[in-house]
Amino acid sequence: MVGTLHIIGGGMAGLAAAVDAVGTCKHIVLHEAGSVCGGRARSYDDKHLGCRIDNGNHLFLSANKAIFRYLNLIGAVETLTGPKTPLFPFIDVLEDVRWTLSLSRGKLPWWLFQSHRRVPDMRLLELRSLYKLLVATRNTTVAECLLPGTFSQRLLMPFSISALNTSCETGSAALLGAVVRESLFQGGNACIPWFVREGLSETFVTPALAYLRYMQAEIRLQSRITRIDVSQESPPHQRVTALHTTHGAIPLTQDDQVILAVTAPVAQNLLGEHIPHFTTPTDFESILNLHFRLDTPPVPLGSLARCGFIGVIGGIAEWIFLRDSVISVTVSAANRFSDDNLEHLVHRIWYDVRRACDSVLSYPLPLDPPAQRVVWEKRATFAATPLQNHLRPGPTTLLTNLVIAGDWTSTELPATVEGAMRSGMKAVEILGLKKPILH
Ligand SMILES: Cc1cc2nc3c(=O)[nH]c(=O)nc-3n(C[C@H](O)[C@H](O)[C@H](O)COP(=O)(O)OP(=O)(O)OC[C@H]3O[C@@H](n4cnc5c(N)ncnc54)[C@H](O)[C@@H]3O)c2cc1C
Repeated sequence: MVGTLHIIGGGMAGLAAAVDAVGTCKHIVLHEAGSVCGGRARSYDDKHLGCRIDNGNHLFLSANKAIFRYLNLIGAVETLTGPKTPLFPFIDVLEDVRWTLSLSRGKLPWWLFQSHRRVPDMRLLELRSLYKLLVATRNTTVAECLLPGTFSQRLLMPFSISALNTSCETGSAALLGAVVRESLFQGGNACIPWFVREGLSETFVTPALAYLRYMQAEIRLQSRITRIDVSQESPPHQRVTALHTTHGAIPLTQDDQVILAVTAPVAQNLLGEHIPHFTTPTDFESILNLHFRLDTPPVPLGSLARCGFIGVIGGIAEWIFLRDSVISVTVSAANRFSDDNLEHLVHRIWYDVRRACDSVLSYPLPLDPPAQRVVWEKRATFAATPLQNHLRPGPTTLLTNLVIAGDWTSTELPATVEGAMRSGMKAVEILGLKKPILH
């Protein structure tokens, strides 16, 4: 084998790069700083709840081509679950209105002309918001594109806050437009919701590591890269000559290459001194996840039974997922709650859960919140504002043997698993590595 490909970071971007590159002419070494891979999409055993949970609920769409390519390569596509049709149950807890958004599968949006399939009380005129998002310029915010009405309130705003993890007032319309272009605009077949059946690690990490090890890649856990050395030549001939880890230095040969798939602040630390004017996003948004453990698994009814989740409008909770006896709640763009009293917040969110679920479960939920785990991911994603979007660097750098990847690089998508994986796959392509067998 000619040379080694060092992949730094075992999150979704690094794993996707490794899975795409393994089997090429390069020996692959994946360096992950933590004791497990997965990064911001991982599962763990929670002693307090006595079960395994994910750091946060993740929802994907059938439009996510990179995710499905990756899962096919590692043989884990069957670990996803969902309604297998473009259905999204919602409740507006303020107005006490329930509906199930039911998109037609093809590109022609027939669902818009059937009132029982669309957002209640929406006017067709409001669809102009979609057009405004599609043609938005780089500095436009989502709020500037949304026309008043229930289509915005009950669909575009919740869709935006989940996709961008940023408020509509500050979120980039161009980034949301890119998501709309790849999903809603392609018709219902591109909008089928999927989520993991068992856990994020069981879907994205464990099968990927098994595949990589089978393909003779080397996985080094607890291998943090602390510094990189760069050759003294002047650009464009500069290259990485060594990686420093907590266990010592790894010299790189002329044939070795590097994919740096770490978080934005770590990339800034490692590359900032070597690459003049290297920028990365600097503002981040948090995501709050609450996992409630019930004594007995409730039986879901109706659309909740069919889909396994429900969207909530008008409360603090935004998405509620039911998996056996665990009810998990997601609140995006959660920096706005950072000064709130946590106990009070948990009670308000549990109140939303009861409003949303009581009448669609086989038994009413307890009045008080049951045992719970709060996971507050402070730097869940970069803040998807126009300004932060400008700061995202492209994959190539002045260093000829190093390419960067990660959800924060300029993928033209917001920070999502799809964006992270695309960036990892793009990095492999830029380095000219191709699998001998096409899948
Ligand atoms: C709570 C939550 C909910 C989310 N929901 C969704 C969703 O519904 N749908 C969706 O598509 N996306 C969602 N996301 C976003 C998605 O999880 C991320 O976009 C994606 O996981 C980012 O992957 P990444 O590889 O770019 O970065 P990371 O996951 O941050 O991976 C970077 C890796 O690099 C490692 N590392 C860091 N420094 C070093 C070093 N010096 N040396 C070696 N290794 C290092 C880290 O330990 C980490 O494993 C969510 C995120 C969170 C937090």
